[in-house]
Amino acid sequence: MKRSTSRAADQLDWQRDAACRGERAAAFYPPLKPEAKAERLARERIAKAICHACPVRVECLEHAVVHDERYGIWGGLTDVERRHLPRSA
Ligand code: SF4
Repeated sequence: MKRSTSRAADQLDWQRDAACRGERAAAFYPPLKPEAKAERLARERIAKAICHACPVRVECLEHAVVHDERYGIWGGLTDVERRHLPRSA
């Protein structure tokens, strides 16, 4: 499963069904070393394809928005894409 500081203390039922569990999690966060744009786009494509087939995509995205997850791909969206989501009043 993806790593997250907030998830450690906030284990939720939907996470058990996450398609990003296990070794696939590496695609969801940038590596520690510098990453070229082409590498980033390729990595994000892989992660988004996993999200596209994930049964808990809606719950995941909602969690990321509510908890203001700043890094990684959640619910099929990058951090930049999540920042551009419309906010409810
Ligand atoms: S939507 Fe994507 S990031 Fe969220 S649990 Fe599913 S596979 Fe993981």
